Amino acid sequence: MQCLICHSMIRLSWTLSYLMMPQRSKTETICMACQKTFHEIDEASACPKCGRQQESQNVCKDCQKWQANGSYYYINHALYQYDEAMKAYMHAYKFQGDYQLRHVFDTKFSQFIKKFAVFDLIVALPIDKTTWTTRGFNQVLGLMGDLSNNEVLYMKRDRDEKRQSQKKRNERLQTGNHFYVDVECRQQIENKKILLIDDVYTTGRTLRHAAETLYRQGSDRVESVTLCR
Ligand SMILES: [Zn+2]
Ligand SMILES: [Zn+2]
Repeated sequence: MQCLICHSMIRLSWTLSYLMMPQRSKTETICMACQKTFHEIDEASACPKCGRQQESQNVCKDCQKWQANGSYYYINHALYQYDEAMKAYMHAYKFQGDYQLRHVFDTKFSQFIKKFAVFDLIVALPIDKTTWTTRGFNQVLGLMGDLSNNEVLYMKRDRDEKRQSQKKRNERLQTGNHFYVDVECRQQIENKKILLIDDVYTTGRTLRHAAETLYRQGSDRVESVTLCR
C-alpha cells in the first residue's frame, strides 16, 4: 500500500517490523521515513500538567501561570510533540481537509486514550457550525478511531470573530467560553470522571473552558488527552 503522507509504496513484507509483528504492521499507514519525522513525548521529561516535552518533569511556565490564576484541577496528556512535521500534518488534515489522513494516527491515538480507562466518559471537543460547513468533519472524532464519543458538550454559537486557528496567542486567551452542556445531558455528566479529547493543546484555553463548563455542571473530575502538545 501507499504511504498516506509521501505516497511512496510501503513494502511491508520487507520490513523488520513486519517479520516480528505482522499483525501490527498491517495497520501501518505511513512509511518508515515519514514515521521518523514525528516525535513522541517522553513522559519522564514532560510537564506533568500539560504534557509539554521539555528537559525535566517540572511544571512548565504556562502551567505555572494557570496555577497562579487559581484554576480548578485539570491536567492534559499528550502523545506527540507539536513540531514542524506535526504542524504540516495538521494543516493537510484540517485545513486542506484530507479526511483520509485520520488513519495516520487513529490506531495509535485510540490506543493511547484507552490507557485512561478509569474515566467514565470520553468527550470529544465539538467544533462550531462554521467549521462543520467548511471542513465537513470533526477532526477529533476522526482521530479517535473505534472509540465512541459522548455528545454532551456543544458550542454556544458560531464564532463571528476570526477562526481560533487564525488568532494570535493573546487574542485566543481572551476569547470567551463558548461551551455549554445540553440540559438533557446534565445527568450523564454529574459526578462523573470525564476525559476530554482534542487534537492539539496549544494555549490550553479552549480545553480549560470545556473543563470548566463540565465542572460547573457537576462533573467530578476532568482531564484531557490530545494527539499533540
Ligand atoms: Zn511516507
Ligand atoms: Zn505545562
